[in-house]
Amino acid sequence: MKNYILTLDEGTTSARAIIFDNDGNIVSLSQNEFTQIYPTPSFVEHDPIEILSAQYSAITECIIKSGLNVQDISCVGITNQRETVIVWNKYTGEPIYNAIVWQCRRTAPICENLKAQGLEQYIADTTGLKIDAYFSGTKIKWILDNVEGAREQAERGELLFGTVDTWLMWKLSGGKIHATDETNASRTMLYDIHNLCWDKKLLEILDIPESMLPTVQKSGSVFGDIDIMGVPLSVCGVAGDQQSALFGQHCVNVGDVKNTYGTGCFLLMNTGETAVKSQNGMLTTIAATTQNAPTQYALEGSVFIGGAVIQWLRDEMKLIETAAQSEECALSVRDSAGVYIVPAFAGLGAPYWDMYARGTICGLTRGAGRNHIVRAALESIAYQTNDLITAMKNDAGVTVASLKADGGAARNKFLMQFQADISNTNVICPDNAEATALGAALLAGMTAGIIKDTDNINPTATTFTPNMKSDERSNNLSGWKRAVNSTISFTKE
Ligand code: ADP
Repeated sequence: MKNYILTLDEGTTSARAIIFDNDGNIVSLSQNEFTQIYPTPSFVEHDPIEILSAQYSAITECIIKSGLNVQDISCVGITNQRETVIVWNKYTGEPIYNAIVWQCRRTAPICENLKAQGLEQYIADTTGLKIDAYFSGTKIKWILDNVEGAREQAERGELLFGTVDTWLMWKLSGGKIHATDETNASRTMLYDIHNLCWDKKLLEILDIPESMLPTVQKSGSVFGDIDIMGVPLSVCGVAGDQQSALFGQHCVNVGDVKNTYGTGCFLLMNTGETAVKSQNGMLTTIAATTQNAPTQYALEGSVFIGGAVIQWLRDEMKLIETAAQSEECALSVRDSAGVYIVPAFAGLGAPYWDMYARGTICGLTRGAGRNHIVRAALESIAYQTNDLITAMKNDAGVTVASLKADGGAARNKFLMQFQADISNTNVICPDNAEATALGAALLAGMTAGIIKDTDNINPTATTFTPNMKSDERSNNLSGWKRAVNSTISFTKE
């Protein structure tokens, strides 16, 4: 009986391979970093060939470490950095340009032009997204407009586009699979999330030939065989990283929410079969889909500076030596002594959307010390997350029973408890922190039939329950509101 699932977890800075058994336990894990290329301070690229080789060597290392034979593996799941664009020649298999990474801002002028054409409403209604350089569509257009001969080649049908999942499957299948899943498609700004098809009007506006685009499948479906160490293995699950984490955290019912506490934070709420239109600047996106089940949607919001505020305390302010030390600092004081940090280092995202805001520290008194500042920094991560939860609750009109947490900063118990207190909700941290990879593994395992019931997967978790009086909570929240308001007014003329 083949009970193992190989998962490719292709992130922004590294490619990982993880083998899970069909109870969701990690059997083996390998990881390789790859180069971040910055042609200018706001341009970010990766070398697609380096991604492929980093991923492939992680796979082989992982299999060797596990002591398993490749033949013991039943199926493959893939999860990936979303929105990143690769365009390659389908005859030579050569990329015609580096991968343009989701963080890259080079297409901001194209986005301004789309806004000037009055397309904001159409794009929001069709794709669920805001017009932004973040998404794939304008990055494809940039390559076709700027790489010599690219447009002619594209019009002759010689070029293919893919997000990284598509690129890996195409390469590892020897060019047989040119496909992606609905979660990845929903981040391109080219996909109609209601009718589940590429949107012809947007393709025309951005001048992108449809022949370049991959076939879009359910996240849990059979994509075809890839070659791993000479053995054909079937890819049975694909999902973009955040939707994969939502699935890996079992957020499959309306109102289920997960937050990934990494450098930034990504909060997703399952809204069931309704694609909720946000009144608060959240994105509407497709949640991981499976065969024979109706499409589920999610609201998505992000905090730009999450764990990064702790890196800032460590690297710039030199207040702590390690990120983990922030926990003991925060716990050594009773409260933040009225200090609030609003880490708007890169502007404020949802629900404020002020790109010009810059960070502030408010409420300093003579008695405020290092530990209060560190505590205020951790609290700022929870306050920003809480702002997103509140906005989503209002958008979707649902109550949030609990928040599932993962990512590096979710290891901080002070932060998790403060989140529970301030949001007045249970915060659940699974012991298996690999929620992103687990999501793709579950999708693949269910499709291949080696996982029947996801309820029994990854059952152990630590739950933080709210333990703050309601007047203390509302005082804290009102202090945070005032700190945000003064941050916003500081940058106004
Ligand atoms: P990413 O995937 O975005 O690189 P990770 O999920 O690996 O991020 O999390 C790294 C972030 O978490 C860093 O910004 C770091 O400052 C923060 N972090 C890691 N451990 C802790 C901790 N114990 N307490 C607070 N923040 C932490």
